[in-house]
Amino acid sequence: MNKRNYYKELENKIDGFQKSGVVPKLLLHVCCAPCSSHCLEFLRQYFDVTVFFYNPNITEEAEYRKRVAEEKRLIEEYNRQVDEKNFEGMHSDEHARKIAIIEGEYDPKEYFEAVKGYEDIPEGGERCRKCFELRLRKTAEIAAKEGIEFFTTSLTISPLKNADVLNEVGEEAARFINEKNAAEIAFLPSDFKKKDGYKRSIELSCKFGLYRQDYCGCGFSKAEREKQKAEEMTR
Ligand code: SF4
Repeated sequence: MNKRNYYKELENKIDGFQKSGVVPKLLLHVCCAPCSSHCLEFLRQYFDVTVFFYNPNITEEAEYRKRVAEEKRLIEEYNRQVDEKNFEGMHSDEHARKIAIIEGEYDPKEYFEAVKGYEDIPEGGERCRKCFELRLRKTAEIAAKEGIEFFTTSLTISPLKNADVLNEVGEEAARFINEKNAAEIAFLPSDFKKKDGYKRSIELSCKFGLYRQDYCGCGFSKAEREKQKAEEMTR
């Protein structure tokens, strides 16, 4: 079977919307401001974007508060550009639209429940799949509730995350919520790291001085990162 190219699929969908003059609503699940910076710069040209910050996987509350505050600051920056029509240093501006945000509930118990039994699996394995399922099902549920036809996630920008798994989980989440709630939402395929997307997210993080953490989010990933750093020091 041919490997799917999620970036190409997204481009094709955008082409279709452009040709028919449609600006669809999109709920973008975001994990943090640095990862969402490029996704938003790109998507706001083609979609009416609402950000959904739902990350109970960030198990330290202080870290969660820091990340959600940075996300809100980034969105304010982007919306100010639209108000002032000042897009200096941006890649594209012609059709940039303002962005809304919904903050999900923050309860790490939901995360611990979702990954129960998988706590010791290293990053990139089944624990992460469970974590994606939790976050993308909730995103699908909110999209259906808010009447937003598409949803996707900024997580596909990370070179450390498997885009096949994320797209598969996103599509499963859409099916699950459509059956459960008689909704008609769709997961928008994505692989935001492609075409220098990840590189652009680093440039934008520098431009806006965004707080950039060096671990994914849960206490397990923080411990793994700290172990790695300690090993690097002894080399
Ligand atoms: S490493 Fe990241 S994706 Fe994996 S379980 Fe932890 S927070 Fe979730």
